[in-house]
Amino acid sequence: MYGRVLLLNGSTWEPIDIISVPRAINLVLSEKAQVVEESGRSLRTVSAKFPVPSVIVLHYYVNVPRRGARWSRRGVLARDGYVCVYCGSRPGEMQRGQILRKQDFTVDHIIPKSRGGVDGWTNTACACYICNHRKGSRLPSEAGMKLRWEPKTPRTSYLVISIGNGPETWKKYIEID
Ligand SMILES: [Zn+2]
Repeated sequence: MYGRVLLLNGSTWEPIDIISVPRAINLVLSEKAQVVEESGRSLRTVSAKFPVPSVIVLHYYVNVPRRGARWSRRGVLARDGYVCVYCGSRPGEMQRGQILRKQDFTVDHIIPKSRGGVDGWTNTACACYICNHRKGSRLPSEAGMKLRWEPKTPRTSYLVISIGNGPETWKKYIEID
């Protein structure tokens, strides 16, 4: 009920797990980890009050096998948080007299598939249907459109799915070149 906490590996600061608040506080109190970002909330017990962490980092390095993030359309939308890479619009905003819904956001292939573009993390991004339609099967430069950010490969697939619902404080720890 107090949400989840992103656990980072010691020294590399790679995200390795999403854990419960009690487990996170336990790691901090036993001096195995320290708080990097706070959630702004606090947890009160009969005897004490703790700020609820949002991101913690271990004091030591654990060897975690790398799980490559498998590309998926759902993963791309979750990674980009349903924000259009071209115009920056997001669900709930007004666009051409209509309120955008989640269904109005699609996965755009930056280099279109018809031009040899692949289904991959760095070639795909979330785009609203208006931008997607406007771009068509052209390159962004040909359509006179600019990407607001460079799409990156996320570290682990389960983190990508979770980040869609994850707090803002997690985002900078998730992506990698
Ligand atoms: Zn757009």
